Amino acid sequence: MNGGIEPAVRLDGVGKVYGTGASAVTALRDVSYSFARGSFTGVMGQSGSGKTTLLQCAAGLTQPTSGSVSVGGADLTGLTEAELSTMRRERAGFVFQAFNLLPALTARENIELPLRLAGRRADPGWVAELVKRTGIADHVHRRPHELSGGQQQRVAICRALVARPEVVFADEPTGNLDTRSGQEILALLRLVVDALRQTVIMVTHDPAAASHADRVLFLSDGQAVNVVEDPTTETIVAGLGTRR
Ligand code: ADP
Ligand code: MG
Repeated sequence: MNGGIEPAVRLDGVGKVYGTGASAVTALRDVSYSFARGSFTGVMGQSGSGKTTLLQCAAGLTQPTSGSVSVGGADLTGLTEAELSTMRRERAGFVFQAFNLLPALTARENIELPLRLAGRRADPGWVAELVKRTGIADHVHRRPHELSGGQQQRVAICRALVARPEVVFADEPTGNLDTRSGQEILALLRLVVDALRQTVIMVTHDPAAASHADRVLFLSDGQAVNVVEDPTTETIVAGLGTRR
């Protein structure tokens, strides 16, 4: 499908080995997968199956040991760290398990930081909509230590979306949230895909969260083993059951 249109992110035969010799750990084995532009993909699999490693390779945060990754049609292989950093700043937004908020900055300053680093100005209307949709509008003048874990997570999500990046990489973005806050975040990720044609790649262990995606990619022992299209909680649970 979409013949001729470059996927947002493409992995070709990606392998990743951490360490060497007897202590070497193979985290990814020959993974080939294209994340279509304007799609929302869930990535699932047991703990240790390589989900975070896949996300980091796809985002240019970690160099694969073998194979290649391209983002927006540009091959990342052989780019310098400075070039990778520019690519991430211009094209990517991140939500990680650790929020990485800067403690000295307010929530609003944290949200606007990626744009400031890129020498751009935040769109006040978009910032206002993000903080409203994530339910932190009343807390934007607080610093991270004055916010709950769930609120910090929502600040991190606003920060990932503020620059309207082509690709949003999210590792367990709802992991620290109660069900209702989690639903709001998932609806927001859905919105940026549907309304802004951004691409979302979301690692999660929660079938209900993954059911908001267009498709779910299953990893097992570092390999891509299955894809479920138009997932429901039921088809995802079934997919998890047949992962081996
Ligand atoms: P997941 O996110 O699915 O839990 P990871 O991608 O974090 O899986 O890890 C895949 C495998 O690679 C695991 O066996 C893990 O222990 C190993 N691993 C991950 N990161 C490192 C690292 N920096 N150094 C060594 N081994 C690692
Ligand atoms: Mg992980």
